[in-house]
Amino acid sequence: MKSRNIAIADLGGHDLSLPMIEHGSGRPEVLIINNLHGNEITGFYVLDALLRELPNSIQGRLRIIPCANLLGLVAKQRANPLDGADLNRGFPPSDKERGVQAAIKRVLLELSGSAQVLIDLHTFTRPSLSAVLRLPHPPKQSRTLERCLAVLNVETVIDIPDNFEERPVQSALGFALVQKGVTVIPIEFPPAHCVKDNAEIESFAAGLLSALAELGLMKKIVKREQHVPPSFLRQQVISDASGLFLPTATLRQSVMVGDVLGFLIHPRSVTKTPVVSPYRGMLFELAQRQMIVFGDKIATVARSSGSKA
Ligand SMILES: [Zn+2]
Repeated sequence: MKSRNIAIADLGGHDLSLPMIEHGSGRPEVLIINNLHGNEITGFYVLDALLRELPNSIQGRLRIIPCANLLGLVAKQRANPLDGADLNRGFPPSDKERGVQAAIKRVLLELSGSAQVLIDLHTFTRPSLSAVLRLPHPPKQSRTLERCLAVLNVETVIDIPDNFEERPVQSALGFALVQKGVTVIPIEFPPAHCVKDNAEIESFAAGLLSALAELGLMKKIVKREQHVPPSFLRQQVISDASGLFLPTATLRQSVMVGDVLGFLIHPRSVTKTPVVSPYRGMLFELAQRQMIVFGDKIATVARSSGSKA
């Protein structure tokens, strides 16, 4: 295993580069990108566990970018702080785009260009279940994806159809790469402070390791029962008021339209208003005790793919 740095930008003494860990050579080639969003950090703990378990030699090449948004990480924020850009939107960047964000995006596209599979590690910012976001793939790539889904040790699959509701994510890196024939596996972990224990992190790492074996990088370690987790569409509950959220519902709970998810405590009057679900489904993500501002997401109620809203 070796590490190198890919130069991104001359920042006058604090030059910016992307760290890369490389293991093996040839094909198949898998790229893992972590921390495209600076405040999403669970992937670091999973990579820590994964690197300890990786065999000394593998068939093919594994490249890992442990930290794609170093400036966002130290600023503890989602976007790149130099230009405020979301590094997982606006793909592919146009020729005229400039600045650090465009340079990072171009390097990521170039690195993924030689890979057959991209595993893109993200973290939800509210307490949530773990998920793979399933982007629409052509049939051959779909089969690769399904084999990985069955071993990744995530609780759910969230389908990301090519429709209006998911329009904000359609300029994500993953969509651009699927167009180029890459199989893309975005994984969303729960927030680091909501992870129960080290066993949960190790289970995610074991899932990644099994997926790498499934992709042909190493021998399959253990034979085990494989099943693709249940799949859902996400329905986001957006707040039409501001206040301090007090959650009363619990993750995984099945909710009906009108069920109370929690309360907003008004900051002036210290009176409570219920927050009700406009959807039915399974409570997939729910804010904790935190300030919610008009327009913020409070919850995600997932409904089974194929069922009607
Ligand atoms: Zn993210």
